[in-house]
This record gives sequence, structure tokens and C-alpha cells, in this order.
Amino acid sequence: MTSARTRERLIGRLREQGVADERVLEIIRTTPRHLFIDEALAHQAYDDTALPIGHGQTISQPWVVARMTELLVARALPERVLEVGTGSGYQTAVLAGVARQIWSVERIRPLQELARRRLSELGLLPRVQLRHADGGLGWPDAAPFDGILAACARADIPDDLLAQLADGGRLVMPVGDGAAQWLTVVDRCGDEFQVQRLDPVRFVPFQRGVLR
Ligand code: SAH
Repeated sequence: MTSARTRERLIGRLREQGVADERVLEIIRTTPRHLFIDEALAHQAYDDTALPIGHGQTISQPWVVARMTELLVARALPERVLEVGTGSGYQTAVLAGVARQIWSVERIRPLQELARRRLSELGLLPRVQLRHADGGLGWPDAAPFDGILAACARADIPDDLLAQLADGGRLVMPVGDGAAQWLTVVDRCGDEFQVQRLDPVRFVPFQRGVLR
């Protein structure tokens, strides 16, 4: 079901789980998650679960998308955001609701092409730029970014991403391995990076290189 009622039920659940930022809840309410998954799974689009999108990857659970977005905007509303791991493009569409310009990198070509089509149909491409590349290297020619969000987990935060974070900017990504990961927030203050380890999470791995 993709009805208003199932969307409202999801918003209620996110509130119960502690998502409090009304801007983020409104964006989740109005972003059509059913358009970012296979039609056969559309009836589960507003359940609070991750779903397969092919190539061994998943569309993130709505709670994770809401929580990461809330963390990303809590310090200051970012204007320029880098996303690593476009995947289905759903989180990208949510980010386009809070930031002026998004640069999003995906290493699996077919996923990137499908996300491009969906984001184009929603009219978001003027503000969203997509690149098929290894997000561990960031997007040097568009840096610095006031917000960086990665949807794949690694034991360490790539130096290139820290270097491309603007002074006063915030990075949000899962840090850890296959057994244990935490949502981690890094705030840049000049040359200092303040790190907070928050919720336990489970993400697909942050891989190296690209796939055609
Ligand atoms: N937010 C996305 C999450 C997709 S899963 C969504 O909701 O659809 C994470 C994605 O990160 C996968 O598509 C995977 O291919 C991608 N990924 C993993 N390592 C990467 C890297 N080094 N560079 C770019 N993308 C990467």
C-alpha cells in the first residue's frame, strides 16, 4: 500500500523511535519511497525496514534515513551536501529536501543509472549531481561540503572525506565492521575533528573501487 494512511503510520513509528525534527518528518512524509524500489515490493515501501534493491545492496530503513538526516541538520542546515552510496536514490531525495545542492556518488553503475532516472522524474536533477565513482575519494572538485553523509560502513573514516568537510561542517556515517557498527558524527572546528559515537546500526560495507 502506498496510501496516505500507511505513510502516516510510518511517521508515527519514527516519532516513537525518537525522531523529533519536524522538517525531517515532513520530508519523509512527502518523499515517495515506493518509487525507489521494485514494484513487487511497493506494498512494503512504508514499513520501517530495509529492502533489497539488487546487486547485494538495500534501500536504507526509513528510521536510519530520518535519524541520519536529523543528525546532519542538527548543527546547522547544510547548503552543500556530499552523499556516498546513492543506492536507490531515496536518501538523496530526502537530502534534497533539506539542502540546496547535493553531490552523490555510487560505485555500482546500474544502481546509479536507475537512481538518476528516478531523481530526474521527480525533477531533482538540477539540484542533485550524480557520479559513478569510489566515494572513498569524495568529490574533490566540488569540495568543501558543509554536510557529508555515507550510507555504507567502514572501520575508519576516509581521510579524503574529512579533508573535504568544510570548517563548521558535519559528517555522519556508520563506523565499524560486519559485527558491530555505530552511527558516528564528526564535527569539524578548524583543524579539529570532534567525534561522537551514537546508535548501533547495520549497514552494507563501504567498498573500494567501482563496478561497471
Ligand atoms: N541510502 C541508500 C543506501 C544504499 S546501500 C538507499 O537508501 O538506497 C549503500 C550503497 O553504498 C550501495 O548502493 C553501495 O553500492 C554503495 N557503496 C558502497 N561503497 C561505496 C563506495 N566506496 N563509493 C560509492 N558507493 C559505495
